[in-house]
Amino acid sequence: MSLSEFDLIQTYFSDLGVSRSDVLLGVGDDCALLQVPEGRQLAVSIDTLVSGRHFLPDVDPESLGHKALAVNLSDLAAMGADPAWVTLALSLPEVDSVWLEAFARGFSALAVRAGVALVGGDTTRGRLSITVQAHGFVDRQRVMRRDGARPGDLIYLSGWLGDAALALLARRGIDVGLADLSPFYRRLDWPEPRLDLSAAVRGIASAAIDISDGLVADLGHICKAGGVSAAIQLDRLPLSAAVYGYVQKTGDWAVPLAGGDDYELCITVSPEREKELEAAVSHLSTKLHRIGVIEEGEGVRCRLPNGSRLENDVKGYDHFA
Ligand code: ADP
Ligand code: MG
Repeated sequence: MSLSEFDLIQTYFSDLGVSRSDVLLGVGDDCALLQVPEGRQLAVSIDTLVSGRHFLPDVDPESLGHKALAVNLSDLAAMGADPAWVTLALSLPEVDSVWLEAFARGFSALAVRAGVALVGGDTTRGRLSITVQAHGFVDRQRVMRRDGARPGDLIYLSGWLGDAALALLARRGIDVGLADLSPFYRRLDWPEPRLDLSAAVRGIASAAIDISDGLVADLGHICKAGGVSAAIQLDRLPLSAAVYGYVQKTGDWAVPLAGGDDYELCITVSPEREKELEAAVSHLSTKLHRIGVIEEGEGVRCRLPNGSRLENDVKGYDHFA
């Protein structure tokens, strides 16, 4: 089946089944017209997934639709924002209606769950690439910026860490010693933005970030922005038995510390508000784990279970390194 650009947009992206009263005009005109609620701020974030770089060309298109939206919603979660609207720029090598149908299904299932409306986008021919821009609303007093951590603050992480990195190793053909990889591929291909957690901790946390490039790199951003350092106790990291076993066997902490794609939230909180934080998240299925403390100085230091310091320099993913 050959579709024109217009038909393609109409068929797959004109109505994902989310209607919002703050969308005055959605897909179809030159611009969307949107109403930011009185007294709230607009949080905006954009992420691109490029074929061959962020995913293999033959990846399941339904999971790709999910992930393209999920990674952007994760940025909103890290800021303490309520998702509202998204735009989608697609570059496609060809019009493949089976692929598009599956992609739109994955995208819209998450959009419906998160209550975000797709309000516009752009569609071109080219190498497969997907850009999503997400828009959400934050309250000025409850926004979670990267620069708010202070010495003495406790560091919390939602679990689990490293499962996606383990799946990525397996997908590259490395034997990670697991009989059933499906839960790990699920963590890599179907990340779940921690929106419930974000809504519970905003206003309590002093800083937050989502783990997309690895804990050390992303917590490093909190340290840099706040002019502080972080001390992590590795025996407190929330690791699955598989990741723990892999670290034991190989001595390679890069899987939990530098593996990207977890999309967990790392937050800091002042010690006076620790009880309040724990009460706020007690009803959630996503658990928070206290993994360390913010100190003066700079950088992220990791303490091994035996008390010694992890010496190898674990870095996160850098596209231009
Ligand atoms: P223009 O030529 O005025 O830029 P386009 O032909 O690019 O318009 O797009 C027509 C309409 O379809 C616009 O409202 C645009 O936002 C929307 N649109 C285009 N591509 C997508 C897409 N992939 N997802 C959602 N909306 C899209
Ligand atoms: Mg256009």
